[in-house]
Amino acid sequence: MTGRVYKSTGSWYTVKTQLGETYQCRIKGKFRIKGIKSTNPIAVGDVVDFELEEANNLESGIIFNIHDRANYIVRKSVNLSKQTHIIAANLDQVFLLVTINNPPTLTSFIDRFLVTAEAYSIKTVLIFNKIDAYDDDTLLEVKYLAHIYRKIGYECIGVSAKTGKNVDKIKALMKDKVSMFSGHSGVGKSTLVNAIQPDLNLKTKEISNLHMQGQHTTTFAEMYDTDFGGKIIDTPGIKGFGVVDMDKEEVGDYFPEIFALKQHCKFNNCLHVKEPKCAVKDALDNDEIAFSRYRSYLQILEGEDEHYRTDNWDK
Ligand code: GDP
Ligand code: ZN
Repeated sequence: MTGRVYKSTGSWYTVKTQLGETYQCRIKGKFRIKGIKSTNPIAVGDVVDFELEEANNLESGIIFNIHDRANYIVRKSVNLSKQTHIIAANLDQVFLLVTINNPPTLTSFIDRFLVTAEAYSIKTVLIFNKIDAYDDDTLLEVKYLAHIYRKIGYECIGVSAKTGKNVDKIKALMKDKVSMFSGHSGVGKSTLVNAIQPDLNLKTKEISNLHMQGQHTTTFAEMYDTDFGGKIIDTPGIKGFGVVDMDKEEVGDYFPEIFALKQHCKFNNCLHVKEPKCAVKDALDNDEIAFSRYRSYLQILEGEDEHYRTDNWDK
């Protein structure tokens, strides 16, 4: 039998078949996936083959195969620093919620998020939430940002989780897909998911209490079905995608507009910083690349934290 992992609590996995039957499954013996050193061999979202346990009540199963993953997201293991923990697998898309204020979402955060999602091969849709609460100037800012991100291939939707405006557009995108919702605390993730599917009862709250971080608290991702044929992966306690280790040469590949131009740079190992005859710098000078995007690129290249210094801007 084949099914998808909806929940995992360490040794037991809740697996749902396409017919909607749910089985509690275990893994027998050693079961390691090639290429990844992770503390958990199977994650929420994985598609697995299993057989029912004969001796038991036929409700439990043994997983014997895992299908190739389209993608997966990880975090560093709490206990074993060299190992990773797979949070979720086979995501079709992530909706990144952005608000201009209450709370503000900086472009540096958006860009860092997008780079990580690109590195993980996960499609991102930008949701500009709370548009019901914005004045004309703020709406212009939304328009400006949406223009920047649409131009480089990201779908952008202005939404109000509160009034329900454009929530149907999100639902249409979610149909038959596995989706995740991300964004700063307070941008409206819970409100939006509730508008999409009331009573789903996600636990999306981030762990923000400092005293929680020192403890070995393990939060488990979980998948939920909506009644219109979309799945949501909820990752309580996990904020964003963390950081992906990448070489300097690789960073530009995750900025679609830089990737598209790099073949026109004079040097094929151009980092687009100070090199002569750089197509990216030329495009920046001609306003074909947004300055905020280029600034984010430099920050990631230099390994600065997302909360970069604001005291020496524009100098
Ligand atoms: P989360 O931390 O991302 O899950 O955010 P919540 O869903 O808890 O929302 C944070 C606050 O923003 C709550 O007070 C919500 O009522 C409010 N909020 C969420 N969506 C909207 C919206 O579309 N418009 C307005 N005006 N407020 C919203
Ligand atoms: Zn260049």
